[in-house]
Amino acid sequence: MVYLDYSATTPVNKDVLDSFNKVCLEYPGNANSLHKLGRESYHLMEAATKQVADLMGVDSSEVIFTSGATESNNLAIIGSILKYKNRGNHILTTKLEHSSILETVNYLEKNGFVVEYINILENGCVNLDDLKSKIREDTVLVSICQVNSEIGIRQDVSQIGKLLKDYPKIIFHVDGTQAVGKTKVNLDNIDLYSFSGHKIYGLKGIGCLIKKKHIELVPIIHGGKSETIYRSGTPTVSLYVSIAKALKLALMDFDKKYHHVEYLNKYLKANLETMNLVNINSNENCVPHIVNISVKSIKPETLMHALAESNIYISTKTACSFDNSMSLSVYELTKNKEIASHSVRISLSYLTTIDEINYFLKILKEKIKELTIDLEGII
Ligand code: PMP
Repeated sequence: MVYLDYSATTPVNKDVLDSFNKVCLEYPGNANSLHKLGRESYHLMEAATKQVADLMGVDSSEVIFTSGATESNNLAIIGSILKYKNRGNHILTTKLEHSSILETVNYLEKNGFVVEYINILENGCVNLDDLKSKIREDTVLVSICQVNSEIGIRQDVSQIGKLLKDYPKIIFHVDGTQAVGKTKVNLDNIDLYSFSGHKIYGLKGIGCLIKKKHIELVPIIHGGKSETIYRSGTPTVSLYVSIAKALKLALMDFDKKYHHVEYLNKYLKANLETMNLVNINSNENCVPHIVNISVKSIKPETLMHALAESNIYISTKTACSFDNSMSLSVYELTKNKEIASHSVRISLSYLTTIDEINYFLKILKEKIKELTIDLEGII
């Protein structure tokens, strides 16, 4: 099997699974129980929280565990907009966001909030002048994805955060789900930061929202204190430990892993450039882990299934998008409907090998030939 869909989800690291199993089997207590078993689980929960906090450069009190980035994004947006509704009802975001942002702001828009989308530059970066011009007296929240999930566009969220320091009433949320482990993260000028375990070789069903101390949120799940007051329910200590371990491993040997993926990316792109019907949508501004391409005249689903016949797995758009229409992100970048309705995503990992890339390129060439009509000799 050649798995090239690491941005949809990653295989769990065996050490992460071992830690999860150990906690499940050996620490059965409820972390909120006052007896010995409860205290043991509580201490593990505290240690996992501290490890996540240390690795992200924040305080333990700034870590909120969630079920994944979708919940983190919902909590960040709905929780802050409700808490600070006295400041106004204007939200700024971009069209490069994941559906868990776009659908959440759509929902808020239907409920009286005003949402505006910041323009991007030709290279995919947020247009800072447009951002500044769209800020209003009643702007409460700016939400921007650090790395776009479909094309891999990387935003300079530190610079955006610095700019927003001039507007102290605005809360700055960053969706870092595709960024952690793929690019350097610095939370200095960021108020809220979402990420997920299963994108960093951890388990599905655990995520995190970093919430800086000066920010308050209204919980979206009610029912008493858990690990924090922001997210009720019996603490899932085994999952907290699993994401703490996954994060530690994801950041270990960062440069070595990054350079390997960068090398694969260059090799892959150089070969894709020689293919007739292929347009590469990812640019120099993207993380090397994501290569978005459009293959003219072949439907993305057709290509995806054809490759799967040869045991190669890639994505059309993101796994979480609703329908099969064109990719909003690719359209936002290229302003070309043809390209945006024919895009597929190839996503790489430090686990990917050059042999896998060569096999993919060979099969891709064959499938493109099979799926297109050779007009030469006919017309
Ligand atoms: N944001 C981005 C940028 C993503 O890529 C994803 C997952 N595709 C999510 C949020 C949602 O993550 P989760 O699956 O953990 O809910």
